[in-house]
Amino acid sequence: MTDIERHSYDVVVIGAGGAGLRAAIEARLAGKRTAIICKSLFGKAHTVMAEGGAAAAMGNVNPNDNWQVHFRDTMRGGKFMNHWRMAELHAKEAPERIWELETYGALFDRTPEGKISQRNFGGHEYPRLAHVGDRTGLELIRTLQQKIVSLQQEDYAATGDYEANIRVFAETTITEILSTGGAVSGCFGYYRESGDFLLFEAPAVVLATGGIGKSFKVTSNSWEYTGDGHALALRSGAKLLNMEFVQFHPTGMVWPPSVKGILVTESVRGDGGVLRNADGKRFMFDYVPDVFRKQYAETEEEGDRWYTDPDNNRRPPELLPRDEVARAINAEVKAGRGSPRGGVFLDIASRRSAEFIHKRLPSMYHQFKELADVDITKEPMEVGPTCHYVMGGVEVDPDTGAATVPGLFAAGEVSGGMHGSNRLGGNSLSDLLVFGKRAGDGAASYVAGLPARPVVADDDVTAAVQTALAPFERAGGPSPYEVHAELQQTLNDLVGIIRRQPELEQAVERIAELRKRIDTVAAPPGRRYNPGWHLCLDLRNMLMVGECVARAALERQESRGGHTRDDYPGMSADWRQVNLVCTANDADEVTVAHQPLPEMPRRLQELFERSELAKYLTEAELAAFDQAAS
Ligand code: FAD
Repeated sequence: MTDIERHSYDVVVIGAGGAGLRAAIEARLAGKRTAIICKSLFGKAHTVMAEGGAAAAMGNVNPNDNWQVHFRDTMRGGKFMNHWRMAELHAKEAPERIWELETYGALFDRTPEGKISQRNFGGHEYPRLAHVGDRTGLELIRTLQQKIVSLQQEDYAATGDYEANIRVFAETTITEILSTGGAVSGCFGYYRESGDFLLFEAPAVVLATGGIGKSFKVTSNSWEYTGDGHALALRSGAKLLNMEFVQFHPTGMVWPPSVKGILVTESVRGDGGVLRNADGKRFMFDYVPDVFRKQYAETEEEGDRWYTDPDNNRRPPELLPRDEVARAINAEVKAGRGSPRGGVFLDIASRRSAEFIHKRLPSMYHQFKELADVDITKEPMEVGPTCHYVMGGVEVDPDTGAATVPGLFAAGEVSGGMHGSNRLGGNSLSDLLVFGKRAGDGAASYVAGLPARPVVADDDVTAAVQTALAPFERAGGPSPYEVHAELQQTLNDLVGIIRRQPELEQAVERIAELRKRIDTVAAPPGRRYNPGWHLCLDLRNMLMVGECVARAALERQESRGGHTRDDYPGMSADWRQVNLVCTANDADEVTVAHQPLPEMPRRLQELFERSELAKYLTEAELAAFDQAAS
C-alpha cells in the first residue's frame, strides 16, 4: 500500500482562517490535542483579505448601539431567514470576542477618547465595525496566530515540545472525512508540495474551510475557495442549508480584465463614497425598497448630513444591504447608464480630502493605483458586482457548531444559517470569532464525552487513496482547467445575480454533463507540487456545490437577499418558512428538500414593530403574535 503518514489528535480543525484559528485555540484551551490544517501557507487564509472590519455592538462611537439593535439589523439584512439563535448569540457575544482579541495583542484603530474605533457599513444602524484601517483581516489573523504561538510556547515550557498540543499542517489539503459507525473517525489528505498522503485519526473534525467563490467566473474570492468544506460535509452525510443565497458584492473592480472581481471595500461608501451612473446621477435614491424606506434618506442633502449628524438624519441609500445595491448597479448597467467598462462610478475623490483617503483607505488607494493606474484621490473608480460570499452552508447547532453527523463541526463561512439570505458587511469577521470559539468548545466537549474513539477503517483509507490517485490513471482525459472554466462560465451566466427558471434548468443540465467530464479529467504525471492534479481533486467539490446552488435556486420560487428570481420577483412569507436542505448520495448526486425554518421566539419578535414583522411573517404567524400580545 502507498506510504501514508499517520497522526492522532483529539480535534482536527480544517482551515486556518479566523474561524479555524479561533476554534483551535478554544479546543487547545480545553485541553485537547489539536491539529490545524490549511491548504495555503499559514497566515495566508482568505480572512487576511477582509478589509472593512468586524461588526460588534460595543457602542464606542454611538452609545445607543447594543446587541438588540445589532440583532435587528442582522435579521433585516438576512430578510428574516437567519437562524434566530445564531443571530442572537452573534449580536450578544461579538463585543466580548473583539475585546478578547486585544488581550491576544490586536490593536484596533482608536476614537479620540482611546476606545476601539467603529465605522459605518451598509445595513448597520450605528457605526459598528471595529477596524484597522482597511486591513482588519490581517490584524485578526496575525493576532490569532500570535495566540497560537504563545500557547505553543506554554507547551514547550511544560513538555519540551512546541507542538505537543497544537500543531499546524500548512499547504496540506484534506480530501476526505472518514467515519466509522456513523461517527467521524478522522480525515485524509495530501501535502501539496510533495504529494505525500496523510491520515489524521481524530474523533472530532471542525470544518472552517471558508466559501465557494471559485466556482464562479467573476469573484472577489481567493484560490482556496473551492467549496471543499461544503462538499466534505455533504459526502460525510451532513446537510447544507439554503445554498441558493450567494452574495454578489456590489463593488468589485471591473477593469483591467486580469483583476476583474477584486473587491472594492464597502468602507469606501461607509466613509462617504457615492455611486453615480454615466449621467452623473446618484441613482441609489431610485432603488430604496419599501421594506427599508423608513430607514434611508430621501434626498442627497439628508444623506450627506447623516455622516456628521446620524441621530437627526437617515443614512444614504448607498449604504443599503449589499443585495439591494448589487441589483441596482446591475439594473443601471442593463439600462445603458453604466460606465465605459460595464460598471458604474464610485466616487470618493470629490467628497473627501486626499489625506482622509490615504489614512482611511490605504489599501484601496494602492489597489487602484497599481492595478488600474487610477488615483482614487483624484478620479472615480469603476465598479460592478462580484461573487463574494456564500450565506448557505453546513447546518449546525447554533450553540455548539455541531453538524448533523456526530463528531463533525463547522464554523465561519462554511456554516449556514447565521446570515439568512444576505450577510451584512462586517458580520463575517465577528461570526468567525463567536462561532469559531463555540465550535472549538463544542468539539472539545464532544470528545470529552465519548466513551471510546471510533477507529478508522483500513478500507476507507484505501478508497481515499484510490480517489486521490484516479486523475493520474486517465491519460488523454480533458484538462481540469478547461472544465473549471466551463463550470465558472455556467454559474456566472445561468446562476448569477438575476435568475430565471429556463436558465436554471439549463445550468442543472450542464452541470450533469460536466460531472461526466469531471470523472474523466486527467492530471499531468507526478505528485510533487502538481497544481493540475490539485485542481482535478478540487473540481469535484466545486461541481458539487455548484449543483447545490443551481438546484436550490431553481427550487426557491421567490426573490430574497442573495437570490433574485426574475420570474418570482417578490418575497413570499410562505417561502420564508422554508429552509432548502441539500444532501448527497454516494455518487455525489445532490437532492434538495424542504425543512421548516426554526421559529423566532416571542421575546425576540418583540424587538421589532408589528408593522415591520408584517413585511416578513405569514398571516398565521402574525395572528399568533397578536394573540400572545392580547
Ligand atoms: P478562510 O479565512 O477562508 O479560511 C479558510 C481556510 O480553510 C484556509 O486556511 C484554507 O487554506 C483552508 N482550506 C480550505 N479548504 C481546505 C482543504 N480542503 N484542506 C485544508 N484546508 C482547507 N468580512 C467581514 O466581516 N468584514 C470585512 O471587512 C470583509 N472583507 C472582505 C474582503 C474580501 C476581499 C473578501 C473576499 C471577503 C471579505 N469578508 C469580510 C468576508 C470574510 O473575509 C470571510 O467570510 C471570512 O474571512 C471567512 O473566514 P473563514 O475562517 O470561514 O475562512
